[in-house]
Amino acid sequence: MQIAISRAIQVHLSHARGCRRIPLAAPFLLLALSSCTMTDRSPAVAASPVSVPSSSSSNPARGSQVPPQTRVKISEVAGRYGFSSSHVQGKQIALSGQNNVLEMAGDSRRALFNGVMVWLSAPPVRSWGRWTMIQSDVDKVIAPLVNPSQALRTEGRRVVVLDAGHGGEDEGAANARYRIQEKHVTLTLANAVRDLLLQHDVDVRLTRTTDRAMDLQDRCEYAARARASVFVSIHLNAATNQDSCGIETHVLPPTGCPVTCSVKVTRDDGATCPGNGHDGPNMVLGYLIQKQLVKETDAEDRGVRRSRFYVLKNAPCPAALVECGFVSNRREAQKLLNAEYNDRIARALAKGIMAYLDVVERAQPTRSSAYHGGEHDHQT
Ligand SMILES: [Zn+2]
Repeated sequence: MQIAISRAIQVHLSHARGCRRIPLAAPFLLLALSSCTMTDRSPAVAASPVSVPSSSSSNPARGSQVPPQTRVKISEVAGRYGFSSSHVQGKQIALSGQNNVLEMAGDSRRALFNGVMVWLSAPPVRSWGRWTMIQSDVDKVIAPLVNPSQALRTEGRRVVVLDAGHGGEDEGAANARYRIQEKHVTLTLANAVRDLLLQHDVDVRLTRTTDRAMDLQDRCEYAARARASVFVSIHLNAATNQDSCGIETHVLPPTGCPVTCSVKVTRDDGATCPGNGHDGPNMVLGYLIQKQLVKETDAEDRGVRRSRFYVLKNAPCPAALVECGFVSNRREAQKLLNAEYNDRIARALAKGIMAYLDVVERAQPTRSSAYHGGEHDHQT
């Protein structure tokens, strides 16, 4: 039986030779997916691009304190999280429900949640004829995105700490030809976001308001003293490949899961950091910010990624680190010189943060209004 998906599906992939949009094949074939939880004991896990130890594995977790990963059949995930339709064609997997669409591909960590790229900790793997994914991706990616009010029910305050990356002698990324220094752009953006959030009765603090050096520990301690409920660190990117471009948002990986730029689970990945106390809210925050950034700027969507940056590990509250473009890419460097473009980035950051705070507000038991995944757009 063949089912046509109602809208065109595109995956935004960063490409070695520039920013291209590569369409995923559609329509998908409908396959019946059975439901039950299982532990993957097949060698397919070892063959996947990410080496995630299975519970039956005899040695990958030895000494690394990395917990074993249970695999769950994607059919069960679909049923549990309100995806009424499951479509599979080859390695392309699409789950759709009343409010959300989740698209994944076998052997790939890239997924699209309602069109926004979100990186999984491990790719879906076909095992005994059924597609499976690791429990951590179910609990720490799908669950908070499908039901953010549940993930944020213990959050409450509205204190936002904006962290302008670098400063003083630490210039951050730079493009000498276009006279761009990351430390100046991040401060400009942080000031602009603060001004926008103040219009919404949000308590906003900046880790630095001048061009001064500040170490990472001080930034986290500042957020703790401010009793921050949201921490957003603002940065620009750079790469030796001058074709690299686009915007990405980083959040802390769950314990036992690799960072996005690594294909292996390391000993460091087994550590639990203070930031892991906010795994669900981290994902919601990162997703809502990345969604607005891509929408407002039309930049390449490099996705919500996982990184163990110091400020993400040690922030006292849900935290995200945004890379708002590559100064090493000629086209994006030129854009970042444009005040109107920087205003769009600032608007997007403010909208993403406000969308997050709106979910927090709706998630409070006294307000009781259920949140159904349709976050509001703020006219900032
Ligand atoms: Zn930076």
